[in-house]
Amino acid sequence: MCHGGVDLGELRAAVGDALVVAPDVVDGYRLDRAHFCPAGVPLGLVRARSRDDVVATLRWASAHRVPVVPQGARTGLSGGANAVDGCLLLSLDQMTAIRAIDPVERIAVVEPGVRNADLTRACWEHGLTYPPDPSSWEISTIGGNVATNAGGLCCVKYGVTREYVRALEVVLADGRVLRTGTATAKGVAGYDLTSLLVGSEGTLGVVTEVTVRLVPRPADPLTAVAFFGSARGACETVLDHRASGARPSMLELMDRGSLEAVARLKDLGFPEGTGAMLLVQSDDPDRAGAELDAFAEVARRRGGEVVVAEDREEAELLVEARRLFSPAHAALGTDLVDDVCVPLTRLADLVDGVEAIGRERDVAVMTSGHAGDGNMHPVVVFDGGDPASAARAEAAFAAIMRLGIALGGTITGEHGVGRLKVPFLGEEVGSASVDVHRSIKAALDPLGILNPGVVLGP
Ligand SMILES: Cc1cc2nc3c(=O)[nH]c(=O)nc-3n(C[C@H](O)[C@H](O)[C@H](O)COP(=O)(O)OP(=O)(O)OC[C@H]3O[C@@H](n4cnc5c(N)ncnc54)[C@H](O)[C@@H]3O)c2cc1C
Repeated sequence: MCHGGVDLGELRAAVGDALVVAPDVVDGYRLDRAHFCPAGVPLGLVRARSRDDVVATLRWASAHRVPVVPQGARTGLSGGANAVDGCLLLSLDQMTAIRAIDPVERIAVVEPGVRNADLTRACWEHGLTYPPDPSSWEISTIGGNVATNAGGLCCVKYGVTREYVRALEVVLADGRVLRTGTATAKGVAGYDLTSLLVGSEGTLGVVTEVTVRLVPRPADPLTAVAFFGSARGACETVLDHRASGARPSMLELMDRGSLEAVARLKDLGFPEGTGAMLLVQSDDPDRAGAELDAFAEVARRRGGEVVVAEDREEAELLVEARRLFSPAHAALGTDLVDDVCVPLTRLADLVDGVEAIGRERDVAVMTSGHAGDGNMHPVVVFDGGDPASAARAEAAFAAIMRLGIALGGTITGEHGVGRLKVPFLGEEVGSASVDVHRSIKAALDPLGILNPGVVLGP
């Protein structure tokens, strides 16, 4: 069985029907959700059903020096799951078993293709929850979340994926199986390989099992919003609220552009001419009311108009504005999603600077994001069919990352470097760090077959 000049017979013998070469099926797996990220033509696709399929695929790929691109649900926004020419796509989306939920140890053991929402809901049945909640929680996989160290809305209080991963089973590039970490609450034997692998974007190994820490399911949160004339008032409120000692379980900001985009999709009855909105939740069973009162006080002091949700329905409506942001900007044209994270004291400078970049480059930029973490998603919207518009958008996208670095922050708070941000990694981390990255990559993947081009580039 020869495909693209490569004999796939041995691989077929090892993984059987998990290997797919039908171009119409394989084509559907070439890309994630990022724009401006070219994708190559793969040799084929392995939809692994078990760790053994992954081992066999990587042994074969090592023997034949064929690149392998691991994939979860391809909801990534950095091109990290995009095909390269002549690669094998290795999808983990069939490995969806939740192997155990242990209410005593408060851990869950899952296969990588489990959707975040499926795990979270399964934990709820035990009075527990898995907190990291990317907005893509219904569609993204735990394996993808681990590989990108995904964040989300409630991470402002509960932290990101890395803080919940206790142990991993990972298949290395040569097919060896590596176990990292322990299921126990404590464990310091050897280097912290679990942390190294979390966020490694499929470049160091393929995750085939994840053990995560769980926490008791919090109470239903109380919700409020504050509408401001300008984004600066909203950003100052974020600082004041944090300084008050409050521990919000959500603290999100939407600027004028993002509110206008959402209003085009659905009229939520928000005040006309709003310059920015803050959305806050508190799930503290004892202090939620007091925390929202404190929020209302600081927001009003900064010129905000505050609405506290009276019931669950009203709360849902307020949160919906934030959830509608992704479909709202996607409906306006081609979109490029930035992911800069800055120290909280520079949040207002980031939002103002992004607005200025949009004006200077003559492109629409709308900003929304996890203000309580300083992690914002300025979205550049442009006409993908017009090369001049696309060039201006690409320049604005780059300028926003450089602004993030200049403000003491990072080019990516949660979406990863992927292929999209490779040119900017060195600018942020410096040459010594890039050298260390390369040494680690060479130690774990000496043939360079795992997700080549991602994070470090060619
Ligand atoms: C509407 C929308 C909202 C989003 N909101 C958020 C958000 O709030 N927070 C956030 O962090 N992200 C968000 N994202 C981005 C994306 O959902 C996350 O990056 C998610 O973690 C990717 O998971 P996935 O299963 O789709 O992985 P993929 O996109 O398939 O892969 C992502 C990366 O992980 C690697 N990978 C995947 N599975 C494995 C594995 N088993 N072993 C090794 N490597 C693997 C891939 O090679 C790739 O580099 C959003 C995306 C969309 C479309």
